[in-house]
Amino acid sequence: MNHGLKRGTQHLSKQCCQPRFLRARSRRYISDIVKKEWSTPLAKILADAIRTTGPISIAAYMRQVLTNPDAGYYTTPSSQSKTEVFGKKGDFITSPEITQVFGELVGIWTLTEWMAQGRPQNGVELIEVGPGKGTLMGDILRTIGNFKSFSNTIETIYLVEASAPLREVQKGVLCEPDAVLEEIDIGYRAINKHTGVPIVWVEDIRLLPYNDKTPFIFAHEFFDALPIHAFESVLPSPESEQKQQQQQQIMTPTGPVELNQPGKTNNSTSSGPQWRELMVALNHKSVIEDVKDEPEFQLSRAKISTPNSLILPEISKRYKYLKSQAGSIIEVSPESRIYVADFARRIGGFNNSTSSEQALKKKLPNRKPGEVPPKPSKIENQKKKARPSGAALILDYGTSSTIPVNSLRGIRQHTNVSPFAFPGQADVSADVDFTGLAEAAIEASEGVEVHGPVDQADFLHSLGIAERGEQLISALSDADKEKQRNIETGWKRLVDKGPNGMGKLYKALAIVPENGGRRRPVGFGGGVVG
Ligand code: SAH
Repeated sequence: MNHGLKRGTQHLSKQCCQPRFLRARSRRYISDIVKKEWSTPLAKILADAIRTTGPISIAAYMRQVLTNPDAGYYTTPSSQSKTEVFGKKGDFITSPEITQVFGELVGIWTLTEWMAQGRPQNGVELIEVGPGKGTLMGDILRTIGNFKSFSNTIETIYLVEASAPLREVQKGVLCEPDAVLEEIDIGYRAINKHTGVPIVWVEDIRLLPYNDKTPFIFAHEFFDALPIHAFESVLPSPESEQKQQQQQQIMTPTGPVELNQPGKTNNSTSSGPQWRELMVALNHKSVIEDVKDEPEFQLSRAKISTPNSLILPEISKRYKYLKSQAGSIIEVSPESRIYVADFARRIGGFNNSTSSEQALKKKLPNRKPGEVPPKPSKIENQKKKARPSGAALILDYGTSSTIPVNSLRGIRQHTNVSPFAFPGQADVSADVDFTGLAEAAIEASEGVEVHGPVDQADFLHSLGIAERGEQLISALSDADKEKQRNIETGWKRLVDKGPNGMGKLYKALAIVPENGGRRRPVGFGGGVVG
């Protein structure tokens, strides 16, 4: 979640997973590790885990440092900053916290999509993933409250939030002070003060019902917090090939059995580069030598293929060429693909049958003549959509067409830090692979099309950010010079197209119902229709 700041590229340490010296001095190592003063309680927990089971994936590390229920950055904001993980007092500031204009324009964008889709009169849902302090949703609701014909169609507001303290903050912003937070089977529920409809909180989008409704989905600075894996293409050494061969065999009571690994071909160990996962290992400079200001963890390349390195780089054809170029690095976020695929299916419906379902059907025996086909299950019926509807708007920082590389970064108190320092007390994030999101959305549902990514500056300008900024300024009296200045610097900051400006670093991507490319959404080259 850092923006407008220099992106610190973390240099990857290319040591093996278990540095030789750790093996040679394991006794000293264990006693020293016990004495060490850890930067955070989570650092010790992670170090113990790595010491026991070996290096962990970046994804596992990110999951722990961001959302570990007892010590994660979002789930247990530090006592010093309480819930102020972001905003002026926190570690970083996001667009909705900079100016109300951001949320207002997202609200207007949603209104334009609703109009363009024939103004559906009921069944509208608002879904926000990673709502932070609830400011964006508050500004969206305040804005669309001015358009009653639209706001009256909203049935439910869903907030997908992993953090219990942030859920409380969101309730404070979006509900009356005396509103009751009721526990329900999928999460929590309270009444929204803007619309009078329920807000339902869940921890994962997959807990939300699939239905035939019209969902408008928002993801602002959410995808950059989802775990990534990183892989490097290497030419295997004869030693690692031998080790790999050994790893691919397991002993059973009847003798050695070859492991059947997906993606492995007969010559996969003897020809061409292979992917190796970059793992999070202990940094001996910190944990053994106790060098001051050294992060406790560092990246280290796995010596051999792992299930992740065999499977994940195969999910997109885009990685194929890079694999053949030894030294290439790619970042892959399977969780982001799951989320965006979920958005696409909620908007466009499930594909008639996915390739895995087709494969399964092929394996099933043919029905005998006259045999009644099984009834589609209740859940199957729920997944069908009469007609694609709704939209998703993703705003984040990341790459438009290239694959993110070395983008993992940490931020603490508005300053770049190593992502491996202060685990659980620094924000850790990675660039969003917008092309990867688009690819996963289109694959997931035939009923959607994707527009963008476009630069945030272009998106906000086409929605009228300058006009709205000026309108707010002119509504203030000249005595409010400071407020006027704040509004002006705020909106201009969001559209700054300088090298580190938010207008350029941040991008917008829209997923809308498939319409043969005949209609572009507002902000993506289209005008207001309907
Ligand atoms: N959209 C807000 C907050 C961005 S910070 C803004 O722009 O101001 C990221 C948000 O995502 C936080 O609310 C955090 O608690 C939530 N989050 C991070 N990882 C999550 C996960 N895996 N599942 C659900 N929520 C998550």
